[in-house]
Amino acid sequence: MTEHVIYRQINKDYAYWIEKRQIGQLKGGHVAGLLSHIVEGQVKQNILIDAGLGTLEGLADIVEDAFWDEPLAIFITHGHIDHHAELMILSEIYCQRRGVDIHDIRPPLPVYCTVETQRHLFSTHRYGFTGGATLQHELVLPGSTVRLGSFDLTPLAVDHFEGAVIYVIQFDFEHQHKIVIGWDMTTLPLAVEQLAWLHSPSLALLEATTWHPIAGETSHTSIEDLVTTGFLDKLHLQFVPAQEKYGAYLVHYSGREDAEGMLTDQQLKQKFDQWYPQLANVVRLAERGQTWRFSLNA
Ligand SMILES: [Zn+2]
Ligand SMILES: [Zn+2]
Repeated sequence: MTEHVIYRQINKDYAYWIEKRQIGQLKGGHVAGLLSHIVEGQVKQNILIDAGLGTLEGLADIVEDAFWDEPLAIFITHGHIDHHAELMILSEIYCQRRGVDIHDIRPPLPVYCTVETQRHLFSTHRYGFTGGATLQHELVLPGSTVRLGSFDLTPLAVDHFEGAVIYVIQFDFEHQHKIVIGWDMTTLPLAVEQLAWLHSPSLALLEATTWHPIAGETSHTSIEDLVTTGFLDKLHLQFVPAQEKYGAYLVHYSGREDAEGMLTDQQLKQKFDQWYPQLANVVRLAERGQTWRFSLNA
């Protein structure tokens, strides 16, 4: 039986499209990712992580049309609008897509998030959770693992915003694969018990909104913070694609708040490699639509 998991970065940015257009980026949107468990060519479970601006266009560009008929669950990291703006439009399309009968309406999509995040989702997407019945809240508690199909998802609390979490996703029987969804963060999770969850990932998507550490202004970590706090070293990143170890990929970068302004992805990677050559082989920039593959040994 052939069985594998793919993770696709649907979008990767924090700055809005109009801002990124100033540096020549014509397509994009807010950070969102899609995890898929595939058995014999069939998707058993899709998990969408966040649903900000540009998610629908990203899905249209990146997935097959069959996506809209495959099992789907949504995990939201926190209540900032750049992480859920398109949630209810997506659920309306998904649930009201016709089944066998023209009047078939699908059950509501499960939306996993903390109680604080749910308050924000509810106030923005109220109709979906009530009369529209296309969204249904599933409570997550920081530190408590949720099992969904073959995935174990563990939310870890971060101090970025009320109820904000990052997710550690493990799969395979011996949990040999681990993906860290590390957006958004203000103070980096450097405590021993946090690092115990995060270390040695197969793939880590990590936010750095600016180059310079100005979290007091932005509520976001930066590339300098990731390096100088020792966080990246403590993750024990490896880049060995043949062993499905892909190191860290940066997401959520804007650069708008840096004095020198936004850098293109290429400029940013060049600068990173110049400043931090010791990390150049384990840290890259995620691309919109980029896909990583993991084999499963059942
Ligand atoms: Zn945020
Ligand atoms: Zn954000």
